[in-house]
Amino acid sequence: MAVREVVTWGDPRLKKDSEDVGAWTPELDQLVADMFETALAEEGVGLAAPQIGINLNLAVIDCSCGEDPSQKIVLINPEIVREEGVQVGPEGCLSIPGIREVLERPMKVWVKNRKPDGSWEEITGEELLARAFCHEIDHLRGRLFVEYFGPVKRQVIQRKYQKHYQPA
Ligand SMILES: [Zn+2]
Repeated sequence: MAVREVVTWGDPRLKKDSEDVGAWTPELDQLVADMFETALAEEGVGLAAPQIGINLNLAVIDCSCGEDPSQKIVLINPEIVREEGVQVGPEGCLSIPGIREVLERPMKVWVKNRKPDGSWEEITGEELLARAFCHEIDHLRGRLFVEYFGPVKRQVIQRKYQKHYQPA
């Protein structure tokens, strides 16, 4: 397993629509393992493939941050099919280090998800997991969480980000 480099806000690969995953391969198993490893190393709850520069509809989530293997979720060509309620809380992104902002998300979401064997499942998430589903699926559509804010607030965030984050 290997920790991959996470691309950050401003990189055009974060803005692209991703392509559906086709037939499952051992290379994709390796990629998923690397993505879990990278999320863990960066202390993130989830990571989407575009964040390591790969525009595939693939994301990993682990709300236990490596503590509980049963909480590992692999999203493949996922789609939110239903949402319910509202939660308001802080959100951050490994591609926008140093920034956490309060954002409204649904309290519960239902996701249609493909499994590696090609069959489909419906999974649900509440609270943090619902937030993670929304956040990671947004990445696959080329959307970052800061884009939910208006231009003025976004500019404030951008200044804060530039102050905190110095590209090497
Ligand atoms: Zn993110």
